[in-house]
Amino acid sequence: MSSFKAPPKKSLGQHFLTDRSYIERIVLAVDPKPGDRLVEIGPGQGAITMPLLRRHCELTAIEFDRDLITPLMEASEGVGRLTIIHKDVLAVDFGKLAGDERLRLVGNLPYNLSSPILFHALEHAASIRDMVFMLQKEVVDRMAAGPGSKVYGRLSVMLQAYCTVTPLFVVPPGAFRPPPKVDSAVVRMVPRPPAEIGVADSQRFTEVVRAAFGQRRKTLRNALSGVCDGAAIEAAGISPDARAEQVEVAAFIRLANQVPAAPAG
Ligand code: SAM
Repeated sequence: MSSFKAPPKKSLGQHFLTDRSYIERIVLAVDPKPGDRLVEIGPGQGAITMPLLRRHCELTAIEFDRDLITPLMEASEGVGRLTIIHKDVLAVDFGKLAGDERLRLVGNLPYNLSSPILFHALEHAASIRDMVFMLQKEVVDRMAAGPGSKVYGRLSVMLQAYCTVTPLFVVPPGAFRPPPKVDSAVVRMVPRPPAEIGVADSQRFTEVVRAAFGQRRKTLRNALSGVCDGAAIEAAGISPDARAEQVEVAAFIRLANQVPAAPAG
């Protein structure tokens, strides 16, 4: 009998995956291989954890909800070696967790925290081999969007600069208990090798992208007036009259690389 007795907590984004076919598709997307360092974010009641453990024998899971820790450990007995880190994932240093072996992250993420978790993962991209995440479909659409799309924005540029982003499949609300109000989607992200990224100063890049999309209706000349002038935008091969939503990721990188750093202090 299941020892998961506590009702799902809305505040922790608890929508537990119950449809076996989608669970299987996530496990197939991860496709763990011997020696992989698998880390699951938000194991919940173990919907993805246990099938992964059955395939892989060893898994680290990061779960914030104290009520789930003991039942999860009990459920893993005889299945595989589960290590649970009882912590807010945003406080976990993936670099330390990885050691010598880059992490393979997997998770049906709490949707209220999906963007902070993505940006936290980006900060540790060098310690991550790949990520298979379930998120709101609307967020996955934004992550993968290209220039010209209505949903192309800061999230698209920031993630695509550092990772390849591949949407895999859509998951309907009925696959969860309780069902969320919206469709979900599974996405794969693979951090690019450092030599391929080309961002000279990540803080500067973040500032430029934030300013450009902060006022997305304005031309870049106006949106970026506090960061650089029209000549700098032109020198990066971008029209100062363009809007951020028309500018491709590589052009943002060129632009940020030639904008001088803000004076210290
Ligand atoms: N993996 C399970 C599944 O697919 O059924 C649960 C997914 S549920 C959408 C999100 C999980 O993330 C919950 O177990 C929740 O308790 C956990 N969670 C929420 N906020 C968290 C945080 N800040 N750090 C770690 N885990 C968190």
